[in-house]
Amino acid sequence: MDNLLFSDSFINGEFYATDSRFSVTDPATEKCIIAVSDIDEQGVNNAIDAAHGAFVKLKATNATTRSDTLMRWYELVMQHKQTLAALMTQEQGKPLHEALGEIDYGAGFIKWFAEEAKRSYGDVIPATDDTHRLTSFKQPIGVVAGITPWNFPVAMVTRKVAPAYAAGCSFILKPSEHTPLCAIALAYLADQAGFVKGAFNVLVSQRAKQVGKMLTDSAQVRKFTFTGSTGVGKQLLAQCAGTIKRTSMELGGNAPFIIFDNANLDDAVAGLMAAKFRNSGQACVAANRIFIQRNVLDTVLNKLAAKVAALKVDNGFAANVDIGPLIYPQAKQKIQQLLQDALDKGATLIGDNSDLGGSFQNPLIVNNVTPAMDIYHQEVFGPVLSVIPFDDEREVLALANDVPYGLAAYFYSQNIQQVYRISEGLEFGMVGVNEGVISNPVAPFGGVKQSGLGREGGHQGLNEYLEEKYLCIKV
Ligand code: ADP
Repeated sequence: MDNLLFSDSFINGEFYATDSRFSVTDPATEKCIIAVSDIDEQGVNNAIDAAHGAFVKLKATNATTRSDTLMRWYELVMQHKQTLAALMTQEQGKPLHEALGEIDYGAGFIKWFAEEAKRSYGDVIPATDDTHRLTSFKQPIGVVAGITPWNFPVAMVTRKVAPAYAAGCSFILKPSEHTPLCAIALAYLADQAGFVKGAFNVLVSQRAKQVGKMLTDSAQVRKFTFTGSTGVGKQLLAQCAGTIKRTSMELGGNAPFIIFDNANLDDAVAGLMAAKFRNSGQACVAANRIFIQRNVLDTVLNKLAAKVAALKVDNGFAANVDIGPLIYPQAKQKIQQLLQDALDKGATLIGDNSDLGGSFQNPLIVNNVTPAMDIYHQEVFGPVLSVIPFDDEREVLALANDVPYGLAAYFYSQNIQQVYRISEGLEFGMVGVNEGVISNPVAPFGGVKQSGLGREGGHQGLNEYLEEKYLCIKV
């Protein structure tokens, strides 16, 4: 197998090492995979300078050249799919088959934006008099800085870096301190693909706050893109105000998943299993509040309980594994606290909650959840299904919307009028109708309310890295 395991930051096309090191840990074994060097101030400044230099070169390149380079990056990522997926399972814990799926999905953004690079059209505006010609066209914003989380170590990176490069922007990435290895490997492969030196820099650090502050304070950085928790997103947004940066924020969710009594219940259960248990439930679009119409509650719970009990929890490299470890032991502790609070307030547990050790958590169903419980309001970020029985459509729509978040929502119904009513009534950026897995590089991913700003993927994803310039010409 080829070696894509690196331990240092990547700046201006070269590795940048420091003496200060920290361990990247395998969440399944709790063993150190490698000690990576923590970036210093000099390194952050070098990256900003390198990205600025790269932008000057990049903005002089044409779209076809950038598209060709992105396509070569896509091909290299696909060539190294097995190695990258294994690296991901090692540092993040997800089952290897899911990691392989994420490489396809993550590489899909590179391919999509390689294609979209060539479609950054402007407008010709009909003039309002005889002596002017009005047009507008798009130009890259400039240096972009981004911070990404640990749950999708490849896709969260490619869905930002690929559209930035397609637009002609350079990028400084600070990946999660828990999963920097895939990010460094991606930057290395981008360099091999012929990226302009300094166009994709990776800063490895466990001092997220300090590095984040340097990036948000820099006047050279013109755009900031973040995926992570709403709390950190709010802080970063405030920090970006000082230099009025363009921002994109993909923040937390609290996805409702509604099963109406007229739904195909087998499809609904299959969709729910996918929407909830992928990545051990550690996704911002994971189904979080499961609303089931009361007259089909027992039927659905029986079907669900059988499927949940059959899930295999193990190291992500084990054969036939469904649920890998959570990212770290505190994640399990948080789930146990949420569970205890729910049980204390009257919820009932279906499944085996015995301690599996380490960061492993058995999948569970918690029934009779109510808004009085913390588990209703917080992202569980683990393999626990919270079930809230409901009686009628108006009630469930109000409940589904009654949270500060608005990322993804799902519902199952075979009633066409209801499909339209609920699709239009849900205050969420993305809605899955009779479908539990909706993410796709060709579609706009993003939230409303406190789930974020901007869209990633789709033709919309490119515009996040472009400014529109209006030209008024007197003739
Ligand atoms: P999660 O709970 O999923 O880890 P976070 O929002 O804490 O979500 O982390 C997402 C990313 O934000 C990670 O790369 C992390 O290092 C970074 N981060 C966390 N706190 C800050 C901060 N105060 N400033 C900048 N980045 C931060």
